[in-house]
Parts: sequence; structure tokens; C-alpha cells
Amino acid sequence: MRILTGFLLSLILAGGASAARAGYTPDFDSGIDVRLAIEAALEAASSAGGLLPEPQGRPAPETVWVSMEKSDVAALDGALFKRAPVAQNKRIAIYEYETDRLAALADGMQRSFYRAPGFFAHDTLESALEDLKAPPAVPSRAYTLDQAARVRDLAARVKEEPVLAVINAMSAFKNRGSRYATGVDASKWLQKEWAKFASGRSDISVAPFKHAAFPQESVVLTVRGAVEPEKVVVIGGHIDSVAGYGDTPAPGADDNASGAAVTQEAIRVLVESGYRPSKTLKFIGFAAEEAGLRGSADIAAAFKKEGVQVEGMLNLDMVNYKGSEKDIYFVTDNTSADQNAFLGRLIDTYLGYTWGTLKCGYGCSDHASWTKNGYPSSYAFESTFEQHSPFIHKPTDTLGSCGGSAVHAAKFARLAAAYAAELGK
Ligand SMILES: [Zn+2]
Repeated sequence: MRILTGFLLSLILAGGASAARAGYTPDFDSGIDVRLAIEAALEAASSAGGLLPEPQGRPAPETVWVSMEKSDVAALDGALFKRAPVAQNKRIAIYEYETDRLAALADGMQRSFYRAPGFFAHDTLESALEDLKAPPAVPSRAYTLDQAARVRDLAARVKEEPVLAVINAMSAFKNRGSRYATGVDASKWLQKEWAKFASGRSDISVAPFKHAAFPQESVVLTVRGAVEPEKVVVIGGHIDSVAGYGDTPAPGADDNASGAAVTQEAIRVLVESGYRPSKTLKFIGFAAEEAGLRGSADIAAAFKKEGVQVEGMLNLDMVNYKGSEKDIYFVTDNTSADQNAFLGRLIDTYLGYTWGTLKCGYGCSDHASWTKNGYPSSYAFESTFEQHSPFIHKPTDTLGSCGGSAVHAAKFARLAAAYAAELGK
């Protein structure tokens, strides 16, 4: 049994998609074989010493500053918050917090409000204090739809199989936490996969974005704009995972291997079609979302500091569990209403899916990092707030728990490709 599961795991880890497919034949309709493969991979990962997660780059206990909505703090378990804020305004408060306890705080948020992280974690007090200011106003812009042939071509190229392959491969890392060796390895794996898209294209590059406070790197694939390279469109989702706290297996298939897989599928169809955008496209796998949106906050702040003109940001976080009647839901708080309407028009005009809206609260995912830096951002989500996957942040967040299929996720890949084509033109 161990030999068999180890063999399956090595196929999945070593070769990613193609080798994994050679090892077994997933049944994309029922998902039975996919689920078995994931379980086998997890079992093998937990029994293989080299794959056990180990905290990295963690010298002395380290302090961070956390910004949270005061109403959330008031409702949280007192054990998580026996301390006074160091600064506050009417809605947000800043607390000094121990890095080691961030996972427990995120877990508390998940248990109390069914959402996480719900806070920003900052390396410096100075950075945290910025969260007390109103975000810069997002300049209004015109959104036009005139790339019908391009969008229909891209949408037709999207397939479920490559999405499944990425979800499978990422889920096989025991825990993609931003301070774990396996979280570092997962980022390196994605960098290698994305680098394949750069071969033969001098306008495409892949680079890690390194973070000072934790070892996991964000992954950035850039398609340099052919006409207006200084204007940038950002599409992405987080690559880390969490399950409670401690070294619990955290396959994070829906949260958020699915968003990373859909980001990659958008890259794949754009490259396959030979599309050369006028503006620069940046596809990003964000590190350390579960630890307080730390990866995206670093990147958005760096872009702001460098004066990067971000035309828009689309966040993909949990896109493969169809818990609600409609296909795609857009978060309406801490996002751009204009850009959300544009995304709705993309769906109505080109994709024919049904869509709705939801609210997810303060700091619920990486779009919030872009909003607070004055960039128009949107967040496309799998369901209503109440009906999202009940398996997230648990060892049971496997592909099997999403029905073993990527039918739902593929819709988001088509939306991401349409967004890239119409905003990147
Ligand atoms: Zn997530």
C-alpha cells in the first residue's frame, strides 16, 4: 500500500500534470479516481519525512501589527484578544500581535464568522497605521467591450483537464502554509510550471516576488504590453493553504489551488492563442494570504510606491465548489463597483453564465490589498457567502469535496481570459 501510494505521489509531484495523468485515469465526471489519488497522495506525504511541513526562517518570536474591524474583535473569543489597541478609528483598530499566533487568529475568525483571514498583518506599525486612512479614490474609467472574436476564441480554448492537473498537484503538498517547507516547495513548483509558458516568448517572464517576513515566495508571470506596457492588468489568487493550525494536512484544493489553477489556465489559453496584449498583464500567485493578506499587501504596496499604473485587479479565491444556484458571484464590499459591473457585462455578453453578488467583510481576501492602495479590484467567488465550500481550512478540502470536477472552476478561467482580453487591449 505504501509503495503504491508513494508511487502515485511521486508521479503527481515530480511531473505535475502529465506524469500524474500517466499514472491513473481520472474520471472527470464522477471524480472517484481523482479523489482516491488525492487521498493516496496525502497519505504518502504524511508518511514521507522530507515532505513534513517544518517552520522555516523563524528565529525569535516576531511581532506584527494587525488591523481588524472593531466589530469583529468585539465578537471574537477573548483568548485571542486580551489586549488594548495601539491605535484606532471608528471602524478599524490596530493591535500588536505575535506572528506565531496569527494562524490561531485566522482560525478563530474562520470559526466565528466563517471567513478568514479578515485582517491585515503588517511588518511595521507605520504600515498598519495606513489602514486607518480612507483608501485613495479610484479614478473612474470607461470600460468598453469590442473584442468579441478574441474573447470567444479564448473561452473556447479553456479546458477542465489542465485545471484539474494543477489542483491535483498543489493539493499533494501536505500544507502550503507560508512558513512551511512544503509551502515554499509549492511556490517553487508553480514557478517552474509557469516558466514553461515563457519559452519562445521574449515578452513573457516569470519571477518570484520575495517577502521579507516569511519564506514562501509569490509567483509573478508578466506578459509585457506591446503598445502601453506601463499600464498593468493584474489577475491572481493565493497559493498558500491552511487547516486550523499546527501541522495538519491542508490540501486547500478549493481554497485556493482552484484560484491558482484558473489563473494558470487563463495564462495557458492566452499563450496558446498567440495573443499579444497592448497593456501589460501580470498573473500572480500570492503567498501568505491566510496569514493576513501579507503577500498581496507587499506587492500592491510595492506597485504603489513605484507608481505602477494598475488598470484593474481580478482576485480568484475559491472557485470550484458550486454551492449556489448561480454560476459566479462578485464581492461588492471593498471592491470597485464600476469594474464589478464590467465583469457582469463580460459574462452577459460573452459567456452566458448566471451571476450574483455577496459581501465578505473586512480583509477577506487579496483584492482588499489592491483596493486600499487605490486600485480598482474585484473578487469573483464560487457561491453566496452562506453556501461556500464547508470543507475549507480542513484536511477535507480536497478535489473530491468539489465533486472531483473542474466544471465550475473553468467558468472562472473563461471570465479571467475575457477580462484580460478586454482590459488588456
Ligand atoms: Zn482563500
